[in-house]
Amino acid sequence: MSRVVLNVDSYEGNDTPSAEIARFVVLYGKASTRKHKIWEGDGLLVCFTDSCLLKSEDERDVICRSSALKGLDQLEDGRIINIGSWSVEIQERIATGPPQKPISAQKPEIQSPMPPMTPGNSENVENRKRGGFSSPFLGIELPKPLSKRSATFVPPLIGSESSSSGGSSSSTIQEKIPPFILNEQDILDRKTTSAVTVDTRFARHLRPHQKSGIQFIFDRLRRGSGKNGGGGGAILADDMGLGKSLQTMAATWALLKGSKTAQQLANSCLIIVPSSLVNNWKAEFDKWWRLMRFPAVIALTANDITTYQSTIKLMPYLVISYDLAQRHVEKLKIIRFDVMVCDEGHKLKNLDGKLRKTLLSLEIPRRLILTGTPMQNDFEEFYSLLDFVRPSVFGSIVEFRKMCSDRPEQLNELIDECMLRRTAADVDLKHLPEKHEYILFCAASPIQKHVHSEICDYMTGDALSLIFFARQLANHPKLLLDNLREKTEKSKAHKHSPLLLAFDGAHMPRGGVKESGKLTALVDMIKCFRLLQECTVIVSNYIETLDMIQQLCEYLNFKVLRLDGKTQVPDRQKLVRTFNDHRDPSNIFLLSTKAGGVGLNLIGASRLVLFDSDWNPANDQQAMARIWRDGQVRPCHIYRLITTGTIEEKMLQRQIKKTGLGCVIDAIEVGDTIATFTDEDLKDIFTFTGSATECNTHDLCECPCDGCGMLENEMDEEDDGDDVVENDAEKIDKSGKIDKIDSDDDEEADDEELEADVTDEVVEDSQEPPEATKPAVAAAGLRTIASLAELSRWRHFSPRHADTWHHFMTNAGLSQVDTDVELTFAFYQESQY
Ligand SMILES: [Zn+2]
Repeated sequence: MSRVVLNVDSYEGNDTPSAEIARFVVLYGKASTRKHKIWEGDGLLVCFTDSCLLKSEDERDVICRSSALKGLDQLEDGRIINIGSWSVEIQERIATGPPQKPISAQKPEIQSPMPPMTPGNSENVENRKRGGFSSPFLGIELPKPLSKRSATFVPPLIGSESSSSGGSSSSTIQEKIPPFILNEQDILDRKTTSAVTVDTRFARHLRPHQKSGIQFIFDRLRRGSGKNGGGGGAILADDMGLGKSLQTMAATWALLKGSKTAQQLANSCLIIVPSSLVNNWKAEFDKWWRLMRFPAVIALTANDITTYQSTIKLMPYLVISYDLAQRHVEKLKIIRFDVMVCDEGHKLKNLDGKLRKTLLSLEIPRRLILTGTPMQNDFEEFYSLLDFVRPSVFGSIVEFRKMCSDRPEQLNELIDECMLRRTAADVDLKHLPEKHEYILFCAASPIQKHVHSEICDYMTGDALSLIFFARQLANHPKLLLDNLREKTEKSKAHKHSPLLLAFDGAHMPRGGVKESGKLTALVDMIKCFRLLQECTVIVSNYIETLDMIQQLCEYLNFKVLRLDGKTQVPDRQKLVRTFNDHRDPSNIFLLSTKAGGVGLNLIGASRLVLFDSDWNPANDQQAMARIWRDGQVRPCHIYRLITTGTIEEKMLQRQIKKTGLGCVIDAIEVGDTIATFTDEDLKDIFTFTGSATECNTHDLCECPCDGCGMLENEMDEEDDGDDVVENDAEKIDKSGKIDKIDSDDDEEADDEELEADVTDEVVEDSQEPPEATKPAVAAAGLRTIASLAELSRWRHFSPRHADTWHHFMTNAGLSQVDTDVELTFAFYQESQY
């Protein structure tokens, strides 16, 4: 990027600047000599005759004042200039607003996430904003002070105006995220120069069938009014689970965005849904818009329709139930909607039905029906849907019937033109749905803390027994107590009887939920999942633990299906079929880690909880793969529960060190795991750190994120400013293996390096230990930070960061009930598909 040096002396003038002469949408970030700039956000550069202001996107904050810019005419898109201590990249010049115009009046133009569409800028404004983020969940827009916000630099995508001066860094990204242009043919035919693209928030996540679905909807709906027969209606009749609402949002959003250009495609969109689905749509919007301004008014009362009228520019969608729409059709008529979407549109199958007539009376030119069952054995019903979206194309019902018998081929052509239907079998499901993995750290209960420290004091040479005790304790102290009592009864002089002394008075477990941190969490989790209408599989290594969970689930009115080592083979398939077929959220599937081996297909569930971890990561991977596998159409959420600061963290660390959690491996040698423990290892394993830390594993990573949820390469690099090159060199020296760290816009490369790093680590364990900041760091078996490098691919969340934590919990599906779970920390990762 070329630079122009402008006169940017610090501005100390008064607060009422002179007339505005130009304004630009910009990206801004701290000035530095870095090749890859760290942009902190989108902003506005407002130029007056005697000064200029760098403002936040919503114009609320003035980031920097400076004296007047010279050479405004030279500020073409892509140019980088310095304003005070800030670097600013010009995105595009926009219309000059009157200087004293109220902020609210400017909002639609300035703050709108729908920037004017021209090739090469709208796409990349959005992209830069998202930076290296890769999913609706990951790209949390943090409501943080500006200095903490960051977005990595992503260069222009298409038709870059600045290609002649463009930096070399742009080429890789151009290939990585190609824009999904919907009106490509028009551009090729030179009908327009403005590209209408699918918003990158969607584009990054679309599967092939969804892309063709979006193109299909867009092509049909853009045509508008159907009075002359060329009308633009469509039926999207995909099977459940293929993403009808996602395709609808992406296509209609493109239509609405297009309205900012001369094309004027649409300004408003009415989405009518069954009452039971209103909240689902709200959640869908929430998911894709996250903390951005919510684009829809969800109508729950007639007043909301009135509200919508006044906010239509900011919130172009109105989501309303069929019932409410019918009752307040007169109010809806006042608003001239451009697009109507009818979810579960087979409700309109009755040709003379009142609902159908009411909706037609709205005279909305573009109509989209979403349905999983377009043809319900009745030709008239099917005609009713076709005629609703494409009036006059299919003639009268009599003509339709005649065409059916006389010219079926012609009819099929017409139907194909306006209806798209794919079944799950049609769609290439080699691409599995998203997989969200969580490691949740649960605070140990007071009894657990107490007994754990007693076990530490009670070190004997019998490591195997002690490890077993510690793991039982982490599941529930009552399990350990019962086990010890049983052993003591069998033989009065049992060598571990003294441990019973740990269970005295106040520390006598009675089997309550609150006595185990993980069990407390589990109860809330399964309640949440039931409310979310999702089925859950719970996995444990121990029969006694499964017994305990079973009792608890039954107490909570779940029906328990259980498969463990005792289950006969013929019964297994029956259990699995019952579970998968019913998909009843009040069913819980309990599975023992060892029995849940290969071949078990539990795709009826989309949530899986690993209540305890195995030493062997392969066993855990096998268990997790029960739900995330071929045939699964819903996003999967997999939760691993860990009691903070206990042996469970050590096991986790060992798993990570051994293989990296993300690796699916068929078999690894772990028979020697316990045998290879040194005394020092054991001491480390039994040291309880839960009172001193919210996550021992995170401490060991020495990760600087502080649990804010951002990846390391996304975090503000305030300190490394101009001397960043030096810092990079330092990193290279330390690791000795990584020869390039600086590629903050190239996640893939980072991942490869990490992988190589982790792999190396298994054989190469001879590096000097890092400075021990915590006693455990120096412990044998955990010698290097690099051995936990796998975790740098995960996001780390601490409840201390309330906003991001709340958002994390919501996305993890854990905010449905009033929770008193004490989670101390969490790791999160989404798999790419
Ligand atoms: Zn971290």
